[in-house]
Amino acid sequence: MYCPFCGAVDTKVIDSRLVSEGNHVRRRRECITCEERFTTYESAELVMPRIIKQDGIREPFNEDKLLAGFSKALEKRPVSIEKVEEAISRIKANLRSTGEREIQSRDLGEQVMTELRILDEVAFVRFASVYRSFKDLNEFREEIDRLSKDNPT
Ligand SMILES: [Zn+2]
Repeated sequence: MYCPFCGAVDTKVIDSRLVSEGNHVRRRRECITCEERFTTYESAELVMPRIIKQDGIREPFNEDKLLAGFSKALEKRPVSIEKVEEAISRIKANLRSTGEREIQSRDLGEQVMTELRILDEVAFVRFASVYRSFKDLNEFREEIDRLSKDNPT
């Protein structure tokens, strides 16, 4: 980010906050050379962290893909699209608030599972069984045991 006053290359962020319902980030910057201060606004698309997949490949955050994941898990389940959109909004807000440029796909998956647990247990189990690999089978087993203990039927 070039300084608009002297054109210096190095500026530092001195304050950073979410504005307009978390869709934009407002940053106060200070030029290291001339010490002038200025403000920049960055849109949500720019501040969404990139996703690091298990093979190490980075990809942009993709809301459609996230929605598709929810839809698949929630197929034929009594959960409204509004509830799903709320869940996705919460996940996006969480990702933005980390301030990280990149996050592990696993962390995103964990957030999806947290939301699905609240929305619908059947969907949660469906997603978890696909998402968690066999090396995590014990962990998955424990999760199922915990679910049945929490909600005796
Ligand atoms: Zn400057």
